Amino acid sequence: MARVLLAHNYHLPLDPREARAGKPYPPLGTLVSAAMAERAGHDLAVYDPMFTPSVETFASSLDGHRPERVAILADPHAVAQKMCLTSMRDAAFTMIRLAKERGATVLVAGPDTSDRPEMYQSAGADVVVVGEHDTPLLAWLDGAPLAGILPRTPVMTNLEALPFPAWDRVDMPAYAQRWRAKHGAWEVNVSTARGCPYRCNWCAKPTWGRTYHVRPAEHVVAEVRALVSRHGVDQIWFTDDIFGIKPSWLAAYRKCIGDTPVPYRCLTRVDLLQDAAYVADLAASGCREVWVGVESGAQHVLDAMDKDCTVEEMRRASGLLRDHGIRRGFFLQLGYPGETVQDVLATARLIRELGPEEIGITVSYPLPGTPFHDRVKDQLRATNWEAAMDNEVLFASEYPQAFYDAARELIRSEHALIRFEPDVSRAGARRAAGAMYHLCRWPLQRAKLAIHARRHA
Ligand code: SF4
Repeated sequence: MARVLLAHNYHLPLDPREARAGKPYPPLGTLVSAAMAERAGHDLAVYDPMFTPSVETFASSLDGHRPERVAILADPHAVAQKMCLTSMRDAAFTMIRLAKERGATVLVAGPDTSDRPEMYQSAGADVVVVGEHDTPLLAWLDGAPLAGILPRTPVMTNLEALPFPAWDRVDMPAYAQRWRAKHGAWEVNVSTARGCPYRCNWCAKPTWGRTYHVRPAEHVVAEVRALVSRHGVDQIWFTDDIFGIKPSWLAAYRKCIGDTPVPYRCLTRVDLLQDAAYVADLAASGCREVWVGVESGAQHVLDAMDKDCTVEEMRRASGLLRDHGIRRGFFLQLGYPGETVQDVLATARLIRELGPEEIGITVSYPLPGTPFHDRVKDQLRATNWEAAMDNEVLFASEYPQAFYDAARELIRSEHALIRFEPDVSRAGARRAAGAMYHLCRWPLQRAKLAIHARRHA
């Protein structure tokens, strides 16, 4: 059998904001593929450049392993990879070049590859996978004569057949060290499902489309328990687009994890959080923090996004989460076409009213293949962010970039002020200094917003 090197192209040091956040996750999709290839008996090595500052370091790995086949698999579970950053695309191109210079045959896959397969083919890849990569990858490793840009293959439906990720193939202690140094606890990512059946019209689904398949709860619990017992993991990040879509699945997970749940954080939707019994199941199964796409406090903006949620549902979901002791994280989006300054202020008011523990703010990002992208594609000024959360407005938007920068700062300042709780620790002093800073900046941001809005009117 051919010697194989499986790799991914995400280099944390090339993504400064994520590097500062200090929350690196092992490359889940790559490690599941590695476990599948191991199971099929392939002679395998894994290259994980997560902490590697220079892409050129890949050359040493290639020279050490001398693989005949190289697969560069961008992790389809990683948010930063779904954003299709130019820095990581350039990294992939360099990796392709280095592998080709050494005579290897190269397969590439991932969200950006699915969006722009021709670019990867032009960069020298022999096989370019569009969509889910597991089935074509295994066929290629088994010697199937694949070449060029492959048409999408049907997604896997029997996720029970997936092995646990090959965690031993990466430096797990390096991940643990970074998490614990910055956050005091180590969190690892687990996927319970693939895909999302909802239709938010700015959301790209390059790998699984609008499909949804879920693993049995017992299978997921076994993986969570293995992470704790074999690696000493403290908590889990369920990396699914939407965790626990079916209440019956969540109830089964809760039953199976039993009286010693492992703490976890997850993503979901506010319309799934309307039933108190469901939220109680979340809390009892170990959920400590939930992130939801609130996006906007203006209903017409949500409707324009095809979000299929209401502002009232946000209020109820937020209240239920708070009542069950689950921290709330709200994703907000600024700059969707049709959003006015009044809508931005409505979003700010909603945050003041609900007081979530965390917020994340981005400007609308037109990703290829989405109805939103189609709507603004003739007004694009650029196609991709260089690094995660660049927050550069990429299309001819309603207001200038400076307006969105001011709006983001204003909402951040207000949030920092409403969440501020004084205490006498060193961290408390830091928080107090931060609150002071926001208090001073708040009138300035408000004035900037008003000036931009007046100029625009
Ligand atoms: S619910 Fe989330 S993952 Fe699903 S379409 Fe909407 S934004 Fe995308």
